[in-house]
Amino acid sequence: MLMLAGCNTTSKFETTAEGAVKPIIVQGAMPIEAENLAKKLDKVKVEKSGNFVFYKGTLNKYPVIVTKTGKGMENASAATALAIEKYDPIAIINQGTAGGHDPNLHVFDIVLGKKVTNIGSFKTEMKDENEGIDPTQWKPMDLMASEGSGADADAEKIRYYEGDAGLLAAANAVKDKYTKGKVVEGTIGSADVWNNEIDRIKWFHDNFGTSVEEMESAGAAQIAKAYGVPFLGIRVLSNNKTNGGAYNPNTAAANQDYVYEVAKKYISTITGKDKK
Ligand code: SAH
Repeated sequence: MLMLAGCNTTSKFETTAEGAVKPIIVQGAMPIEAENLAKKLDKVKVEKSGNFVFYKGTLNKYPVIVTKTGKGMENASAATALAIEKYDPIAIINQGTAGGHDPNLHVFDIVLGKKVTNIGSFKTEMKDENEGIDPTQWKPMDLMASEGSGADADAEKIRYYEGDAGLLAAANAVKDKYTKGKVVEGTIGSADVWNNEIDRIKWFHDNFGTSVEEMESAGAAQIAKAYGVPFLGIRVLSNNKTNGGAYNPNTAAANQDYVYEVAKKYISTITGKDKK
């Protein structure tokens, strides 16, 4: 009911300008975050562009394109813009590993990005030579608030990109299929930074409500929003400094298995096969 608003009530698929069915894009940054899912698609054709690899295949006969974007905000953002221009997707899921900011979340738990935010975009205080640096005084800088430069008060706010309701509904509907940890809604913070300072992690958690951090979702979300494409970040904790959770790379495959279930559910919803 959430997604069907824009669709036909018959099982006619939403199509691109060229008449092709609009694909779902699922992004992963590292090989361990993309290849497991790419292998599960049928009829895969590989397309490369720059550093990006697009695994174009089908899932239950519906077009799905798994993208290996490479790490970091720039790669994720560029891969998103390119995918939107090239493939006109119906939705984008950015998924992979993350580090916990919430001590109640453990390695293998999954966070659905009800909100995604850039935790690398800040304006510092004014300080003269020898006055030092003071990151806890930094103000968030909303890159989308204005086109100007300088002291725009509107820009000194944290910007949250909302997860798409239809994608969130699909993800929540298959929560029980994931048995390696819990699946919760939360806030994903992204930056080209790996934070290992527990007080800094706590500062993000307390001030901006971050559940986890990683390096891609906010870049992808920002571009998806600019184009009006439904977006959701889905992140598994591969580590959590706040409670001693040691890095476990096997979480990447576990998350892809869950995202596979989410994609199937979303497909059955948008193709009208999910109705009673
Ligand atoms: N290979 C380097 C850095 C990996 S970058 C190293 O070994 O140190 C980390 C990748 O995993 C990014 O794509 C990011 O999205 C994700 N990630 C997992 N845990 C993270 C954390 N605690 N902080 C930032 N990124 C994390």
